[in-house]
Amino acid sequence: MENKTAIADSFGRTFPYLRLSVTDVCNFSCSYCLPDGYKKTGCDPFMAQDEIVRLVRAFAELGTWKIRLTGGEPTVRRDFVDIAAMIHEIPGIRRLAFTTNGYKLQERAQEYYDAGLRAINISIDSLHPDKFKIITGHDRLHEVLDGVQASFEAGFESIKLNTVLLKGLNDNELDRFIDFVEDKPVSLRFIELMRTRDNADYFEAHHLPGTAVTEKLLERGWRARPRVEGAGPAQEFEHEGSAGTIGLIAPYSKDFCKSCNRLRVSAKGALHLCLFGEGGYSLREYLQSDDQIEELQEKILALMNFKRSAHFLHEGNSGVREHLASIGG
Ligand code: SAM
Ligand code: SF4
Repeated sequence: MENKTAIADSFGRTFPYLRLSVTDVCNFSCSYCLPDGYKKTGCDPFMAQDEIVRLVRAFAELGTWKIRLTGGEPTVRRDFVDIAAMIHEIPGIRRLAFTTNGYKLQERAQEYYDAGLRAINISIDSLHPDKFKIITGHDRLHEVLDGVQASFEAGFESIKLNTVLLKGLNDNELDRFIDFVEDKPVSLRFIELMRTRDNADYFEAHHLPGTAVTEKLLERGWRARPRVEGAGPAQEFEHEGSAGTIGLIAPYSKDFCKSCNRLRVSAKGALHLCLFGEGGYSLREYLQSDDQIEELQEKILALMNFKRSAHFLHEGNSGVREHLASIGG
């Protein structure tokens, strides 16, 4: 492959990692994300397979080697497995991951693995069936847990569990989550609830700083792992008696943005330089034929000049993102 300029910004950060949303549609209605379920917006269709392949080829030639498929719920897209298989074949892509709410995972985990997916993040916000239902709108905790087991059996190399920390909803389950990973080689990540345009009141009621997790872990004899060069923004903790590790993703913490190594593209083909950036930059017109790849790459590199050093969440500026289902979290 011809050597091209790698994607970098004016602050010295490089971006080997792309989070690619394949649909905004979701079949769950998580109370912090889509409390009233998915509602269609606009009339542009989601990117078609050939547009997705062109996009990933362009990024891969600019040094991107890790792709995470996300959504909405990526697996509700009928051609999800075909998309994964096509991306898996693109030269330069060494890691193909996805984030899912675990719907039908028990039946489909093997199919996902066989398509080339090797890393899976499964969202589980409560280990109590009733609470799980209250938070996600679905009484499916046991199905999702069976899906975690099926992912082990399928051979996934990395299994992570995402848990959004919610005051008054799951903050009394910290011990239970810590015990849960004791015999499982998974990384469970507590994610601080992020404020979006649509969840301001919910945020006020349920946001809990990540320090609640840190304090609990230290109290139980866990220790922070030293940060490794190139790692993402999660602070990881370990304990010699636990097969699993615990991570904390705290976007409101100081220096969170310094380790930013990812870009995002929405299901409609807009490049988002920051999860909380203002709007996105449409790449759609450059995705229409194979001979546009250089033009597309020039556009991506030019847009990197607009990436800011940090988000402005502390100032209460959550950008215009209505919810994270529109950009994949
Ligand atoms: N539907 C898939 C799922 O839930 O795993 C993928 C998309 S979802 C937007 C990706 C991740 O973002 C999930 O782990 C979800 O819990 C998290 N998320 C959504 N809204 C959030 C918010 N306001 N604050 C923090 N995390 C959020
Ligand atoms: Fe759907 Fe994921 Fe948002 Fe829940 S967090 S509503 S599963 S997109």
